[in-house]
Amino acid sequence: MVRIYLRDRGFSIREQSLGEDEIIGASGKGVVDIRELGLLPGVERVAATSKPYELASRETRPEDTIVTVGGKEPGGLVKIGGTRISVIAGPCAVESRDQIMETAAMVRESGAVILRGGAFKPRTSPYAFQGLGMKGLEYMKAAGEAQGMPIVTEVVSPELAVQMQDLTDMFQIGARNMQNYELLKKVGSLGKPVLLKRGPSATIEEWLLSAEYLLASGTRDVVLCERGIRTFETYTRNTLDISAIPVVKALSHLPVIVDPSHAVGIRAKVSSAGLAAIAAGADGLTIEVHPRPDEALSDGPQSLYPEQFERLMRDIEALAPVVGKELLRTPLPSHGGRGRHAEKAPAKAADAGGGPASEGDTRDIPVAFSGESGAFAEQALMRVFGEESPRMRCSSFRSIFDAVLDGSAMAGVVPVENSLAGSVHENYDLFLRYPDIAIVGELKLRIVHCLIGDEKADLDTIKIVRSHPQGFAQCRDFLDKYPQWHLEACNDTATAVASIAREGATKVAAIAGEAAAKIHGLRVLKTGIETNPLNYTRFVIITRRIGDEVFVPPSLGSEPPNKASLVFSVPDTPGSLFACLKILSERGINLSKLESRPIQGQPWRYLFYVDVNIPGSEGMFDTVIEELKTKAEDFRFLGAYRGSL
Ligand code: PEP
Ligand code: MN
Repeated sequence: MVRIYLRDRGFSIREQSLGEDEIIGASGKGVVDIRELGLLPGVERVAATSKPYELASRETRPEDTIVTVGGKEPGGLVKIGGTRISVIAGPCAVESRDQIMETAAMVRESGAVILRGGAFKPRTSPYAFQGLGMKGLEYMKAAGEAQGMPIVTEVVSPELAVQMQDLTDMFQIGARNMQNYELLKKVGSLGKPVLLKRGPSATIEEWLLSAEYLLASGTRDVVLCERGIRTFETYTRNTLDISAIPVVKALSHLPVIVDPSHAVGIRAKVSSAGLAAIAAGADGLTIEVHPRPDEALSDGPQSLYPEQFERLMRDIEALAPVVGKELLRTPLPSHGGRGRHAEKAPAKAADAGGGPASEGDTRDIPVAFSGESGAFAEQALMRVFGEESPRMRCSSFRSIFDAVLDGSAMAGVVPVENSLAGSVHENYDLFLRYPDIAIVGELKLRIVHCLIGDEKADLDTIKIVRSHPQGFAQCRDFLDKYPQWHLEACNDTATAVASIAREGATKVAAIAGEAAAKIHGLRVLKTGIETNPLNYTRFVIITRRIGDEVFVPPSLGSEPPNKASLVFSVPDTPGSLFACLKILSERGINLSKLESRPIQGQPWRYLFYVDVNIPGSEGMFDTVIEELKTKAEDFRFLGAYRGSL
């Protein structure tokens, strides 16, 4: 019907599928009534695109595309795009089996999720090292498998693309080949993910048209890579076009990553340029790393030493929350050391006696959070477990604990502390009432508050503002400017937004995150209204403890814990708290939190909430805990986990 309608009006049409969407592209000089077209059966959306690239354009697909690389064990599945930062690393070229094996292990240890390396090197000089060819690719595949990482490697001809397809997880189209259209068509038709470098002299539009070639030939998984362009400047190898990142992110739904190594060409400048790219909104980086850059057969001067790469990854991790993202990390292969933990999710209470549920079950069991869709807790949940993970909305914090305990939720996400407004005491109290719940993970989420209202509302029409009390507390300075507003507390910030969406009032506004405004179809009247931009909420991931075993969801990774949370009280005698803290101090154990809370029903007696950093030697930490138990009263170990920066 749609096809006939368009053809009758003089358009030529093309058909594509992008994920689950069927897209019909039409071009020509005909005239069409867009609203009428939108009413035809089966039409979800009509987008008039002014862009020559249809499939790559955000006008065609407003939501971010998330590209999936790898997936078949043991090469793990890695995602690029959305709220994650994915880092690809490895040498410029595969030089030997040992070199790629050694580099893969090093970059994996620092947190890279995809291994890079060239087997076919398009070098400027025909006399320079050209790569090891198919042998190099075989070494690389082995290295990827040894480290559980998917691999990406450059393809230089359509014939080689066919030969390489079973060995690589992702094809790289190099800068020099960005406009090699026969190559793009062949690689696109193989359906594998593609990393498309920007040509050294290509405009943004030419680059996106090359992406269009790939999409039009059949692949949906295209990642764009800015790697510096040719300008009059000769100090650096190329000029990193930072502004291309926000420009392309607005024009296209495809993920954009940055290669600061080839852009800058000078080792000492690579990390700064990479951090700038992340700050500008890049979805990841690709970085050249060599165990001994001086001996590298290509691009040694721009290859990072493994220590420099490690430092860069830590800096990215610290920067990520500022741009509302999380550095993607995948589990290290059999690192162990998380103490006693169950690999499998506890079964529902009803069949608890029958042993743990099977591994496959955990993927279908939801993770619980409190609030409406768009709540900050839901964003924290998606950061840890992925956007598509099944989730359960609970009406209170207590019901999260109940759902985790009875097995209807695999895990729960609960806020425990905000950097401006302090602890969420209700959850600390719940930990005491639920001894079979353990903390297994942590996430710090940057909280940017917005004033959200109806399309027709503005700052002058508002009389009532709804939010969670924490939302009010974090926006105190802003609210003080409007003393006439009446504040109404809600269970969570997203519930406040949902209530306006239902009532459609111009008098009522809500304080919540931008995501809640989008989900409920409301407008952001003012953004960034929190008193201080350094506003973070610390969420913890909770699961059920059965005996000594604690379930650690696979998405939390298997790196050993570096943080633990404890609760205890002390005898009412001089020096009793000091005696406990002395045990920690003598072992050089750092406290990252110490807070006292009144014990319910025992006036003037207090519990101490303590977070500590676990030292490298874990055996020593076990001794410390045993010692603490002898000095403290009511000692409770809430959990050991990997702290987020
Ligand atoms: C590379 O990534 O190895 C490479 C050759 O990069 P570019 O194509 O961007 O020069
Ligand atoms: Mn290189």
